[in-house]
Amino acid sequence: MNKGIKESVEMKPEEACKEGEAANDEGAGIYENRKNASKSEAVKNDLELKKKTITTAHVTLAKGKSLLMRAISCYSSMTASTRKFFVLGQKPKKRPEGIFLCQSSYGYDADNDYHKTCNGGHTEARILANLALSNQLAGAKIVFNINWNDESKLPCQHCFDMICKTASDEECDAKIFICTEDNEPVDMNKECKKSNSDYDKFKRNYTRDYG
Ligand SMILES: [Zn+2]
Repeated sequence: MNKGIKESVEMKPEEACKEGEAANDEGAGIYENRKNASKSEAVKNDLELKKKTITTAHVTLAKGKSLLMRAISCYSSMTASTRKFFVLGQKPKKRPEGIFLCQSSYGYDADNDYHKTCNGGHTEARILANLALSNQLAGAKIVFNINWNDESKLPCQHCFDMICKTASDEECDAKIFICTEDNEPVDMNKECKKSNSDYDKFKRNYTRDYG
């Protein structure tokens, strides 16, 4: 199995949200341990101050197999032993300019990713890219539990764009959910349609309907 990917069992989105929350908490613990184990005050401060996203995706592939994929915003202060618990992105030179989804491509802006030394990339985008590059996006059901710095459960604009591009790729026919604070799944196929893939509109809807 690849880094940050574990086998799971198929479950309903509500249950997948809870599974994701537990996996995110475990990921935060791994990050915390790395921070505390560091002998360098500078590294400790670095890891303490940085805002981080930890995202877990419960993925059921078209063939029925289920996976748990966990990603974290990637900082160069993290060691290889910490990074092995998370899905990594591609190395800078290997990153494609666009990710081929199923019938469309997403202009994954790899060059603008931060933390290039650390196989960076946004967490939800990185998980989608990982599935796309292994030809496993078609027919996949994906439940994202996003934790942005313990402050937000929403994707950023970049990840929202890629989620909506995937959700509207008919050939992919992927079902994508994100989880609320209360672990309620939000159907992104519907949300992308409702907001016309407009991030501001989505955020306004989300606040009204779920906030
Ligand atoms: Zn993002």
